[in-house]
Amino acid sequence: MMELTFLGTGTSQGVPMIGCRCEVCRSADPRDRRLRSSALVRVYDDWGSGGPDSSGGSGGLDDSGGSGSPSGSANPNISGGSEVMGGPDGSERLDIVIDAGPDFRAQMLAADVRKLDGILMTHEHKDHTGGLDDIRAYNYFAAAPVDIWATERVQGALRRDYAYAFDERPYPGAPEITLHTIDDGRDADGTMVGNGKPFCVKGIVVTPIRGLHMRLPVVGFRMGGLAGFSGFSDGFGDSGFSGGSVFSDSLGGGLAYLTDFNHIDEGEMAKLHGLDTLVINALGHKAHISHFNLEQAVEVARKVGARRTYLTHISHRMGLYADIEPTLPEGIHLAYDGLTIRL
Ligand SMILES: [Zn+2]
Ligand SMILES: [Zn+2]
Ligand SMILES: [Zn+2]
Repeated sequence: MMELTFLGTGTSQGVPMIGCRCEVCRSADPRDRRLRSSALVRVYDDWGSGGPDSSGGSGGLDDSGGSGSPSGSANPNISGGSEVMGGPDGSERLDIVIDAGPDFRAQMLAADVRKLDGILMTHEHKDHTGGLDDIRAYNYFAAAPVDIWATERVQGALRRDYAYAFDERPYPGAPEITLHTIDDGRDADGTMVGNGKPFCVKGIVVTPIRGLHMRLPVVGFRMGGLAGFSGFSDGFGDSGFSGGSVFSDSLGGGLAYLTDFNHIDEGEMAKLHGLDTLVINALGHKAHISHFNLEQAVEVARKVGARRTYLTHISHRMGLYADIEPTLPEGIHLAYDGLTIRL
C-alpha cells in the first residue's frame, strides 16, 4: 500500500496570505488554510501483497479523509492521529517527503513524521527548500544524515543557501545532508541532453518527470506502476533503467506529483501513461507566467487521463474550497492540507 498525504497545498505565500482580508484568507473552513506545498509518501511493506483490498489499484481505493468534513482538531488540517497514519499492523514503511518549504517543521509535527527515508526536491525556490534547517531533529534521532535527492542545479542552490551545512568543517549542530543526484537529462542551462533516469529511493523506483516553471527546469516524480507502462522500453530508451522493478507491479498505476509546472512536453506526458493518481499544480483562474492555472491543469489532467487528479499549489485567488470543488470535472479535485489518499 502506498499513501500520499498533502502536507501543504498552498502557493509560495501560503493561504491565508499575510495581511490579506479576502474571503478565502478569512475563511473558517480548514480546507482553505494552505501551508506551502509538500507531500508525504508512505510505502508500507505489504506492497507485495497487492495492497489492503488486493484490487491492485483499480477501483475500490479509499480516499481517506477525502469525504470527511473539515476537522476541528488543534491543528487545522492535518490529523496525525488518523488510523491511516499509524502503519497497519505496525508494519515497516518508508516515509518520503517531497519538498521541504518554510512550513516543513510544522508539517512534520502535524503529520507525526518520526523518521525520514528521503526528501525529493522538485526545484530550488524557497517555498520548496526553505525548511531544510529543521532536518536536524532527524539527524539527532537517527544519528545519520538525511538523504536528499535533487538535480545538480538544485544541489548547487542548496549548497549556496545552506553553506553552513556543506562547509568542510561544519558548525556543530548544522544540518547533516547526503545529496543524491537526480539525472533529469538536462544540463546546467536546462537543455535536454538525455531522457532522464529513474532512480531508487530505498527500493522505491522514482521516475523524474521534466517540466518548465517559466524558464526554470523543474522535476515532478512518478512512483509505482512503471511495469504496466507499455511504452516503457521506447519512451525510456536511454534511461539505463532495467525495468521490472519488484516494486512496480504492486502499486497499480502509481502516482505522479507535479508542482510548479507551466509547461510539460509530449515526451514527458508519455511517462504518465496509465497513471492512477495525478497531482498537479493549479494556481488560480487567471493565466500566470510560471504556473498552470486551473484551466491548463484540467487540460493536462484530461490528457493524462489518470483515474483521479488532485490540484495543489493553490493561491487564495482560486476561491473558497466549498465553492470551487463542486464545479470541477469528474475525477478532478482540489487537494487540501491533511488529505490522505491511498493507492
Ligand atoms: Zn512553489
Ligand atoms: Zn486573500
Ligand atoms: Zn517555484
